[in-house]
Amino acid sequence: MLFGGEEVKAEELWAEFCSKRGIDKDTPYEAWGFGRDGEESDQLAKLVVEGKKFGTASLYDVYEAEDALDELPKVGGYSVILDSHEEAVCIIRDYDVYIRPFREVSPFHAYSEGEGDRSLEHWRGVHKEFFEGEAKECGVTFSEESKVVCEKFTLEYVAGCDVPEGELLFVEPTMNYADEIVAYRQEMLDVNSSFDGCFSMKRMPDPQEYVDYCIGWANPSREADVHGAWGNVLLVIRKADNKMVGCMQVHNVLTQRMKDCTGHVGYSVRPAERRRGYATKMLAKGLDFLSSFGFKEVVASCLPENTGSKKTILANGGEYIDIRYLESDDVNLERNLMRNVIRPHHGMCFQFYEGKGYDENFTDHMGQIIHKMEANPSGKIVVSATTDMVCANCPNNQGGVCESQEKVLRYDTAVLEACEIEDGATINYEDFISLVRHRVIDAGLREQICGDCEWNELCRR
Ligand code: SF4
Repeated sequence: MLFGGEEVKAEELWAEFCSKRGIDKDTPYEAWGFGRDGEESDQLAKLVVEGKKFGTASLYDVYEAEDALDELPKVGGYSVILDSHEEAVCIIRDYDVYIRPFREVSPFHAYSEGEGDRSLEHWRGVHKEFFEGEAKECGVTFSEESKVVCEKFTLEYVAGCDVPEGELLFVEPTMNYADEIVAYRQEMLDVNSSFDGCFSMKRMPDPQEYVDYCIGWANPSREADVHGAWGNVLLVIRKADNKMVGCMQVHNVLTQRMKDCTGHVGYSVRPAERRRGYATKMLAKGLDFLSSFGFKEVVASCLPENTGSKKTILANGGEYIDIRYLESDDVNLERNLMRNVIRPHHGMCFQFYEGKGYDENFTDHMGQIIHKMEANPSGKIVVSATTDMVCANCPNNQGGVCESQEKVLRYDTAVLEACEIEDGATINYEDFISLVRHRVIDAGLREQICGDCEWNELCRR
């Protein structure tokens, strides 16, 4: 059994799932494992359970050669994922399936597979070798033009535990959502919204034209367009009712306008769905996706007077850079640097956090940051003795300087020394937390470093 506990066969897990969710147990499902061998299949199943893997790909020619085109994955189809011992690990359900030539598979698909550094380069390297082997076994030839079946799925159930229902799905534009795209566009027009993150939708009333444009824009085999831009558009779909609640553009090649003013990521929330926290979750996903391009720092912009947007950026750790004038739109834009800064001593605070803090605003925000970082433990952070993502919503943060500056810098310096980390170093979140745990907390240094903190009693327990 991959994660310990009872061994469970596919049929047993399926029956348990159906009974808990009120699904007819005769609903069809497939049972299969990822990868080529035991070790790989276990690793990939683990990535699914950890929430890092929500996509997979297979070769169309193999289905065809095996006369199994009726077995092609379908939206809504369930699968029980098996480990290397044929034990059931979890249940997934496809929410998006499309076929595309290998050379056109998008960066977002590569990211969704959760493997390696989640980059397109990594995905292409690993899958080229895998598909070549599969094609050979079936007597067909693999090439850059070979058709690839790309699937995205939700994690529905894990053996022995309850999985919280995911709220938002990130979907590359498809005609399956044509009606939603039309309705979204109309709502944005009705309130004269600025179409951030879906600018081209404004000038394309025909959803087919918009979908084709977005697919072309994400095609890595083409040159960046005449404006120099290249990136992925994602429709943000609420899983509960399949409604499009937002749209996001993530740019991996930037125009001069983006470099100077608008930044790497744009997003909008459907007017009727605003003030529900969707923008914060969308930006968090966009930043995570952008890290798969190797960006250590990205820029997110907003109108200075848009307090909602500003809050979203701050909630994701944004740091004010400057205000730039965007001549084409005759507006000023506030640019913010997004780089997941964590000040060293907060590596201790995170490990004892139990929802208490200076005020509700602060505690909500800190809880969200910890949740976001724990959801992506391999994400990069910058460890820096400066105001950070946590300080962003702190009443003691006076224009970027902590009111207790002398004290917190002392804590920061001691943590950096104990962990042997340079100020300003870039490191994985999980590595940072592990270093602080072992070299500060387990080593008994915590109280010596921050025993005079007003929250000391909380960390003594
Ligand atoms: S007290 Fe200072 S260091 Fe701590 S969160 Fe507030 S501003 Fe940041």
